[in-house]
Amino acid sequence: MSLEVPLPPLGRCAVHPDLPAGGTCTRCGSFICADCATSVSGLGARLYCKACAERPDVNYLEALRQRYQGKRDEWAWVVGGVTLLLCVATAAALAQWGLRATRESLFTLLLLLPVPVGVAFFLGRRWARHALLFTPLVMAVAADALVPTGRFLFFACAIPAFVTGLRIHRDVRNQLFFRLPVPPGMLKLLWNERFNNPMARQAARFGFSALLMPLLAPVAVICGVVALTRVDSKATPPIGRKDQAITGLVLGLASPLLWGFFLLPWLAERLHF
Ligand SMILES: [Zn+2]
Ligand SMILES: [Zn+2]
Repeated sequence: MSLEVPLPPLGRCAVHPDLPAGGTCTRCGSFICADCATSVSGLGARLYCKACAERPDVNYLEALRQRYQGKRDEWAWVVGGVTLLLCVATAAALAQWGLRATRESLFTLLLLLPVPVGVAFFLGRRWARHALLFTPLVMAVAADALVPTGRFLFFACAIPAFVTGLRIHRDVRNQLFFRLPVPPGMLKLLWNERFNNPMARQAARFGFSALLMPLLAPVAVICGVVALTRVDSKATPPIGRKDQAITGLVLGLASPLLWGFFLLPWLAERLHF
């Protein structure tokens, strides 16, 4: 006669049978011990087994990082394009006026100053990210030294270029191109912007537009309904933007009422129809 040792109520870890399980994996439901329980950034308090936590559909922020890491973003192409334009413009100017030791030809050569920075940026050299910020200011100072009468114009051009540089410098997608370590919170913002129920954002946009153009109201309603059916806070990754979907839906429904009962009668009265 053998004595069966009863298992603890939750059973044992699927990977470590000698350890008691503390819970189950949110995705596959297998028992996990304290060692195996893994939380995934962007998914709150849910716990997963190690295998599930590595899946791209669960660890969606890490999957997003791998998808974009080292891949040129829109800004890299813009900087590359502007660099090419500067080369073409300088070549055209030199073909027109030739290279003489005059201030004008020196001024033309100034257009070549950002070219090495632009090329390095396009190739993903990290120093170029910082250099890009200061290039417009250096150009303005150099241009000012050559033609002091244009000071206002040079700085008026340099300041928007600097502000654009600052935007590029802070852009998460661009930081991924440069393979910089981006924290999960920033990845989540990027994911939210690009993949979190974009239809809901469209619904809200069409809803506000429908207040001015009632013909857009059905579009806002359809987008709002579709977006609302997609909202699922328990999904992996969670799909949100419920408020924007509702905003689109409500504005889409309100617009025909607003026009039918208030704006059209008011307009008709004003225009003496
Ligand atoms: Zn699992
Ligand atoms: Zn375990």
